[in-house]
Amino acid sequence: HRVSVCCGSGCHSMGAEQVLATLKGEVGAAGLTREVQVHASGCRGLCAAGTLVEVESGPADGAERHLYVGVDPEVAVRIAREHLVDGRPLSEHHADPSDPFFARQQRIVLESAGRIDPEDLESCLAAGAYAALEKAVSEMTPAEVLAEVTASGLRGRGGAGYPTGLKWSTVAKAAGDRKYVICNGDEGDPGAFMDRSVLDGDPHRVLEGMALAGYAVGAEQGYVYVRAEYPLAVKRLKIAIKQAERLQLLGNRIFDSGFNFRVDIRIGAGAFVCGEETALMASVEGKRGSPRPRPPWPAQRGLFGQPTLINNVETLANVPAIVRRGGAWFAGIGTAKSKGTKVFALAGKVRHTGLIEVPMGTTLREIIFEVGGGIPGGRAFKAAQTGGPSGGCIPASHLDLPVDYESLAAVGSIMGSGGLIVMDETSCMVDVARYFMGFCREESCGKCIPCRAGTVQMHELLGKIAAGRGELDDLGRLEELADLLGAASLCGLGQTAPNPVLSTLRHFKDEYLAHIEERR
Ligand code: SF4
Repeated sequence: HRVSVCCGSGCHSMGAEQVLATLKGEVGAAGLTREVQVHASGCRGLCAAGTLVEVESGPADGAERHLYVGVDPEVAVRIAREHLVDGRPLSEHHADPSDPFFARQQRIVLESAGRIDPEDLESCLAAGAYAALEKAVSEMTPAEVLAEVTASGLRGRGGAGYPTGLKWSTVAKAAGDRKYVICNGDEGDPGAFMDRSVLDGDPHRVLEGMALAGYAVGAEQGYVYVRAEYPLAVKRLKIAIKQAERLQLLGNRIFDSGFNFRVDIRIGAGAFVCGEETALMASVEGKRGSPRPRPPWPAQRGLFGQPTLINNVETLANVPAIVRRGGAWFAGIGTAKSKGTKVFALAGKVRHTGLIEVPMGTTLREIIFEVGGGIPGGRAFKAAQTGGPSGGCIPASHLDLPVDYESLAAVGSIMGSGGLIVMDETSCMVDVARYFMGFCREESCGKCIPCRAGTVQMHELLGKIAAGRGELDDLGRLEELADLLGAASLCGLGQTAPNPVLSTLRHFKDEYLAHIEERR
């Protein structure tokens, strides 16, 4: 038997470590440590039903699998005694593999997360880690790697959706003494935990993606920038980097080729604006994380003034599979302009809160009502918020919208990095807009006046309306300020901060009017 205990952040907070210790203790007491391997894994996705434990029996190809949900130490004792010792799987606490939560997902980025032990290199190598890098450095030229990524149609998963191949080719062509690859793991949207789960569930995949990027663009140094609020991800990345260097999977002469690529970690101190690429580079350089105007673009003059490729965690985590299986394979998944899959963090008023990965083009209805299991408590769906503080709220009339970059933008939201917060009939949309504006007000770095003062004014207007003290003119004022922030702010934080307000005004104006009516 191979037993993996989900120790991703969700299960971790539900006592997964005790479950792991209990299982190990029981297996030891039964004298079965050779026959039963018990290990921790990263996030399996179904966070709402933690702690999750999978028992795999028999050879890896064709193994019998039992996934247990809601496991506490008591249930762990029963799994050990009844299933592992007596060979009788429990009849309760089972997840149903035919449940749409599992059946509707397609896992590329999360292919191994939740199965492998992220701290055990052997387990990662057995699952295919670094096979793409070995293939690239021994059989492909950098231009061929770049061509596969371009052919895949992969677009940036950090939010903007810029074609990854185009970005890579700009850096590859740029002249510079040194080039850099940065992995942006400064995930800061409220309700988003995709990058965290990829980093703490399968760190080698991200490192491999960075090395492949370095090979394709001609960089020998990478930085992975992770926020300090993700201690588990930081710990596992540090372990992974050491392990990979020891086997020359990273470092000098990777796979005995002439390619050298080192990765260092830089830890962010919690400022949301450091996710913006120019602020992030300043932070890596040891300066205050404050945005600067673009151009020059990082691809031309980035970190330490050199050409720099910045990609988000999920973008890079797609690359090993693309190199291994070919760009055409990846381009066959998804929609005409949005290829591949997207990882979403499902949060809010939805049964299966957790981490999912679905093909681009899956509808919001399928994501929320099938994969997500619908709205708890028999309440009605009201809206889905995508894109965090830069995104918008999508009403029930657009539930059949296929989720891709263009469709979401057409209804006033954005794909964003993958936060998806579900709201039911009890949610007040003015409050939602106020919450996100309050977040931007707090996180504004203060460098430019439209954002620094505009977010304060918009937040105060929203507070006034929510408290029933608003006037009709306030709606026009909100729209004026939104235009001003969008046009005159220096960086994406200020430019997109009005989006949650504009989208709720567009789809839920009646709620604003109802609050204003209260005053009369
Ligand atoms: Fe700072 Fe906001 Fe200006 Fe960006 S838009 S530079 S966060 S003040």
